[in-house]
Amino acid sequence: MFVKNFFRGGTTVPHSKNTAGCETVKMGVPEKVTIPMLQHIGAPCEPCVKKGDTVRVGQIIGNSNKYISSPIHSSVSGTVTDVAPMLYAGGVYVTSVEIKTDGNQEVYEGIKPPNFSNSNEFISVIRESGLVGLGGAGFPAHVKLSPPPGIKIDTLIINAAECEPYITSDYREIIENSWNVISGINIIMEVLEIDNVLIGIEDNKPEAIKEMTRVAATNDKINVIKLKSRYPQGAEKMLIYATTGRKVPPGKLPADVGVIVMNVNSVSFISEYTKTGMPLIKKRVTVDGPSVKRPSNVEALIGTPVSEVFNFCGGFGIVPKKILMGGPMMGIAQFTLNTPVLKHTNALLAFDETSAVLPQEQACIRCGRCVKACPMNLLPLYLNNNSLKEEIEELNKYHVMDCIECGSCSYVCPAKINLVQSIRLGKAQVKQAAAKGGK
Ligand code: SF4
Ligand code: SF4
Repeated sequence: MFVKNFFRGGTTVPHSKNTAGCETVKMGVPEKVTIPMLQHIGAPCEPCVKKGDTVRVGQIIGNSNKYISSPIHSSVSGTVTDVAPMLYAGGVYVTSVEIKTDGNQEVYEGIKPPNFSNSNEFISVIRESGLVGLGGAGFPAHVKLSPPPGIKIDTLIINAAECEPYITSDYREIIENSWNVISGINIIMEVLEIDNVLIGIEDNKPEAIKEMTRVAATNDKINVIKLKSRYPQGAEKMLIYATTGRKVPPGKLPADVGVIVMNVNSVSFISEYTKTGMPLIKKRVTVDGPSVKRPSNVEALIGTPVSEVFNFCGGFGIVPKKILMGGPMMGIAQFTLNTPVLKHTNALLAFDETSAVLPQEQACIRCGRCVKACPMNLLPLYLNNNSLKEEIEELNKYHVMDCIECGSCSYVCPAKINLVQSIRLGKAQVKQAAAKGGK
C-alpha cells in the first residue's frame, strides 16, 4: 500500500460518513416503478414496450443504436401502465416507462450468464448489461472499456475514494463484497490484458483499506493506494494524478494517458453479471441527512419512487427543506419526492431548515480563494461574470468546459456566490451557441 501524489486545489469538507457502519438493507418491490429512458451520459433510449405489455425482471424496455448510450431493463415483473414524458431528477421531463408491479418478480426467460472469449465480445456483453458508471457520473461502461484504436491501456484504476460527504455506498461494497470487487478486476485484467491495477481509497476509510489490501494480496498486480482525504479526490483527473502521477491534459480522456478508471461498485457488478446474466436493475443508495429518521444504506430497485426510499428509512423526523439526489457537493436538488431511483443514484439526502439555509450572495471581494480551490486551474470568479453576461467567447477563452462542477469554488467563497451554478449555466450557453453554429 502506498500514499501517492496529491492534486492541486480542492478543499476540506466534513466527512459525515454516518452510515459507514450500516449494512445494506434490501427494500421490497414497490407497487409501481417509473423507469426513465435516460439514465446515463449520452443518447437517450427509445422505449421498446408499450402500454399494456407484460414485462419481466431483466427484460430490455429501452435501447438506442447510438454508441454512447446504454440499454435500460425492467427492474420488476408487471404490466406497463404508461409510456410518456415524466418528471426526472433535476426537474426536466424524460420519456419514461411506468410499470405496475405484480409482486412475483418473474425473471425474463433470456437471462443467463453471458459468453465472451475476447475483448470485443466482452465489450458487447457489458453494453447488454446496461452498466453505467455507478459512482454517480453514469458514463456507459462499454465506452470506458473501449479505448480508441492505437491506444494501449497499461493501468486500471479502481475509484473507491468516495470523497463526497455522507455517501458510503462504495465503502459498503468493499466491506460487504470485497471478493466480488477482486473478481471483477481479474475479469477486466484478463480480457483487456492489463497488468497493473491501482485501487484508490481515501485515508478516512481505514477498514476499507484494510479489507481491500487483504483480498488484493491474492494478485501481486493489484495494489491499494491510500489517498489523502481531500475533496474532490474521487474526480477522475484528480484520482489519475494521485495514483499514477499522470496528468490528463484539458480536453483529453484517461485513455490518452494509458488509463481506464472504473468505480468500485461497477467492477463488482461485472463480477455478478458474468455469474448470473442479470442486468443492472438495482442500486445501493445511502439515505442520510438531518431530516432522516433512520439513516441507512438501502438496496432499491431502479425506478422506485424516492418517497418510498425515505419511508423505508422511517420517513422524516424533521420536516425537510432540501432533498438532494447525490452528495451535498455535486448532488441535484429535487423539488418532488416522486422522482425515481436511477442507475447512478448513490445517495438521497434530506436537510432540515437549519442545515439547508441558503446564505445571501455578497459582492466578490477578489480574495482569490475560488481560484486556489479549483482543482482544474480555472478562474471561477471570471467564469461567473462571463456566464452572467452571456459572454460566450470569454467563457471559451477561460475554458469553462473544463469545469468538472465539483463545487469547491462555491464551498470556499466567503461572499457565498453561487459560482458552480452560474458556471453550469455558462457551460449550457456554450453548448447552445455551438449547436447554433458558434458565436
Ligand atoms: S472566492 Fe468568492 S469572493 Fe473570493 S474571489 Fe472568488 S468569487 Fe470572489
Ligand atoms: S470552477 Fe468548476 S472545477 Fe473549478 S472549483 Fe469550481 S466547480 Fe470545481
